[in-house]
Amino acid sequence: MTATAPREEQLWSRCAGCASLLYRKRLRRNLDVCPECGEHARLGAPERLRQLVDPGSLRPLPDGLPEADPIGFVDVLPYPHRLTAARASTGLAEAVVCATATIGGHPATLAVMDFRFLGGSLGCAVGELITRAAERALDDRTPLILVTASGGARMQEGALSLMQMATVSQAIAALREAGLLTVSVLTDPTYGGVAASFATNTDLVLAESGARMGFAGPRVIRQVTGRALPEGFQTADFLLRHGQVDMVVQRRSLRGRLVALLAATRAARPTRADGSGRPPVPRQEPAPHRERLAEDGPAPVRSAAGGDAAAEAAPTTPGASAAPAVRDAWDTVRTARHPGRPTALDFLDSVFDGFVELHGDRLGGDCPAIVGGVARLAGRHVMVIGHQKGHTTAELVARNFGMASPAGHRKALRLMRLAARLGLPVVTLVDTPGADPGVGAEEQGQAAAIAENILTLTVLPTPVLAVITGEGGSGGALALAVADRVLMLENAVYSVISPEGCAAILWPDRSAAPQAARALRLTAPDLCRLGVVDEIVPEPSGAAHDDPAETARRLRAALLTNLLPLLEVPPAMLVRLRRQRFRRFGAARAGAR
Ligand SMILES: [Zn+2]
Repeated sequence: MTATAPREEQLWSRCAGCASLLYRKRLRRNLDVCPECGEHARLGAPERLRQLVDPGSLRPLPDGLPEADPIGFVDVLPYPHRLTAARASTGLAEAVVCATATIGGHPATLAVMDFRFLGGSLGCAVGELITRAAERALDDRTPLILVTASGGARMQEGALSLMQMATVSQAIAALREAGLLTVSVLTDPTYGGVAASFATNTDLVLAESGARMGFAGPRVIRQVTGRALPEGFQTADFLLRHGQVDMVVQRRSLRGRLVALLAATRAARPTRADGSGRPPVPRQEPAPHRERLAEDGPAPVRSAAGGDAAAEAAPTTPGASAAPAVRDAWDTVRTARHPGRPTALDFLDSVFDGFVELHGDRLGGDCPAIVGGVARLAGRHVMVIGHQKGHTTAELVARNFGMASPAGHRKALRLMRLAARLGLPVVTLVDTPGADPGVGAEEQGQAAAIAENILTLTVLPTPVLAVITGEGGSGGALALAVADRVLMLENAVYSVISPEGCAAILWPDRSAAPQAARALRLTAPDLCRLGVVDEIVPEPSGAAHDDPAETARRLRAALLTNLLPLLEVPPAMLVRLRRQRFRRFGAARAGAR
């Protein structure tokens, strides 16, 4: 390439929709919308902000965070190299730019994602920056506007990236409680963990014309179902037709729509008694500071089931066997998926008494992959909700392999809220490969269903105890695992993405799943070390399926040990502590060294 070639390229650009060659300046004047076919080209965050806010009103929020590589992730490239390259090519510190500004004279706080930066992936820094923006909105009593563009969670940060869905959601819950408007603007593309959290659990959801949004991506759904997808699947118009967004907006109308919405909600706000600018609203919790993390460098790469980690996370439950044998992460994945492994219904029979199953989401469905109802644990009444797999192929098929549909998530939500009203603690049993990768699940609003559960759990005023019993697969698992205490059976796994899925994206092919399993830090000892999991429940020699009765005995002991202290804590305090637990993951991304 000659020295003049890049300049030539910058003058002209080819429309991705109609392939017209367009004069760059003309395209920019038209807000990067093709004048020939109306295709909305993707915008970087700085340009998006420029289009939306009043000239001269933009005040960027600080974006300097210490560099971190919390799980020492290496695929074919070390993660820090990918970060450095993304910074160099975009000129941005991270995949989101946050700011305060006015829009049509109305003050607002904005967080705008940038897909050019590692696919707009949601890592700890992105979660932290958006959470801080939400906290700023709460302080200033302004609406929060989120412009999303993301492929999903950042798998190079393992389960910590998954936790960001809860971290940001608890901040959005605080704005809800304070009566402050939250708006998300979906832009192309918005998928995975972002779709299943703050892109859809805001008050209003706008979709920019041409944007696509969903939990599972079209490629994955096509692979799993082996069928062609419906015309326009997951596009803004599809979302509108299926009741998932408030409106589809052309880019040239977006600013005007936001102004109208901000004006309407401003009128609805209570008048301030003293006539001063700001009501005296105290901040809830001071945000933890990041400064102490400054010295974090890349963590050394260790084998996933490293001896140190296993020893640190030694089981504390009475009756624990001697030090567990060090197992390769991939072996653990296979054990977690063993067809003989006890299921939720098995545990409901062996750990609990008097289970009475409750069915239905009251909106038209009863998902067989989620079971729930009231039961007794050592004489105490609890609400138990779990993913149900099965031991035979027929059982697995009947239960959709433990993959909940939106109806399943909504049934779980109904039971969680019921538990809170009745003053029952919630125990969840998590064992799912992930959410349902099907066309129907997307049509029925899978992302929003998961997002609402995550947000609700962050503020549910009753004790919540989660146990990862088998596979804790991504957002589908987190939808039942935002809890006061998170326990994990010794051979369970918990991950932002399946090792096969991770290998397909970051390695040449899926056969690298064992390497991906090691890189993702998805075993119980690793997750204890990262603070994602509080306690490991040891399994009998061999694994849970070799001695289900002993497994049940140990699980019951661990549940009681963890639940009884929670019953003493007043609900308001529980909620505060739970929010702090998930707030920490934004700030403490390198807390795991
Ligand atoms: Zn075009």
